Amino acid sequence: MNVYDSERMTEALSAHGYAETGAVEDADLVILNTCHIREKAAEKVYSDLGRIRQVKGARAASGSDTVVAVVGCVAQAEGSEIVRRAPVVDLVVGPQSYHRLPELIARTRSENRSLVETEFPEEEKFARLPQRAPSRGVTAFLTVQEGCDKFCTFCVVPYTRGMEYSRSVADIEHEARALVAGGVREVTLLGQNVNGYHGAGPEGRSYSLADLIRHLAQIDGLERLRYTTSHPRDMSDDLIAAHGTEKKLMPYLHLPFQSGADRILAAMNRKHTAREYIDLVGRIRAAQPELALSTDVIVGFPGETEAEFADTLSVFAEVGFAAAYSFKYSPRPGTPAEKLSDQIPDEVKADRLARLQSVIERQQALFSQRCVGRALPVLFEKPGRRPGQLIGRSPYLQSVHAKAPAGMLGRVVPVEISAFGPNSLAGVIRPE
Ligand code: SAM
Ligand code: SF4
Repeated sequence: MNVYDSERMTEALSAHGYAETGAVEDADLVILNTCHIREKAAEKVYSDLGRIRQVKGARAASGSDTVVAVVGCVAQAEGSEIVRRAPVVDLVVGPQSYHRLPELIARTRSENRSLVETEFPEEEKFARLPQRAPSRGVTAFLTVQEGCDKFCTFCVVPYTRGMEYSRSVADIEHEARALVAGGVREVTLLGQNVNGYHGAGPEGRSYSLADLIRHLAQIDGLERLRYTTSHPRDMSDDLIAAHGTEKKLMPYLHLPFQSGADRILAAMNRKHTAREYIDLVGRIRAAQPELALSTDVIVGFPGETEAEFADTLSVFAEVGFAAAYSFKYSPRPGTPAEKLSDQIPDEVKADRLARLQSVIERQQALFSQRCVGRALPVLFEKPGRRPGQLIGRSPYLQSVHAKAPAGMLGRVVPVEISAFGPNSLAGVIRPE
């Protein structure tokens, strides 16, 4: 979602004469778009600001001004504390206000003081942003839903991104069509809780995510649809059915389960049990037997015992995942879990994480191995590292490289998979 937000900020600023540069030394304006989900991500902001302070100092010595903005969820959570800790910062802007960046930059320049904007504004951010600029690639993200009211006890999202909000179908369709006109062939619909989507449809009734997918699938030239991230409790029957019937919906699903122990799931306020998750996966796989499943897991939530960690490993053994993201529990300011007394020592968390990650690597390798010898439709996205090579994605979101002419960029081509590595597959184009 931050990648998407950064693109939209870049587009909003392009309309005011800004152009992107890869070198911070050349930048009149530096924006750090930040993540507050774990402590490590939040702390990285301050180490980056230390480096930016030096650049700003050097530029000032040669007569150039630099405006430094901290945007996103760290900005929302820490507000003016950021300017106190890092006076190099001129602007602090929460994720719901970045459409106001051009105006706020002008103000900080003219008033020559730092500004902090962390309200959840009444006005609609998306309505205020300029049209999507012609795309830079074959795949694109498209935010359809923001915020979350699930209040998992470990998570900052409800506090930093606010309550759940769904964009209208017309607005999303408009953006999707603009992306496709600019060359995009695959769109990933984004939301912190994307399958809770319930936006106003064209006929006045509310659309579910499945309705939205069916609607967008009618756009000519749009070949693939994906969505992320979903909550198990919002996996409705019509969405499950769409996995079986919508050809453009890729057979890949990211469905976090967080923990395999029911006591921990209850303490996390996830409102489902491990068995309910496993049964749900069974129903989705019945609709789409090809499904590649990925997940998020937290180890070392307060009070997690060794036996409860073993329950998490059991879910892996029973379900079998194509990919997974795993995290050490990170206490986040203002969340209920932070106040729990039985925090787990870091070395225990690190040990559990290492054991879990070796299971994940094995399962991922097994999934990749099963692809060898099959012809997978690959959407080529960009040139590979070697001359004459292109890189694309399989339906299961694996990176695939193959020798292919540049003219195949943006096309879905059958590739016979011949080998796999830890992060990618290799293959040979099948004659069409
Ligand atoms: N909405 C999604 C869901 O319900 O699963 C997750 C969104 S969150 C931005 C992405 C992932 O970060 C979560 O699934 C969780 O595994 C992880 N995460 C969130 N808060 C965390 C924390 N305090 N410590 C460690 N990992 C965390
Ligand atoms: Fe955070 Fe996801 Fe839980 Fe919402 S559903 S509080 S985003 S982990």
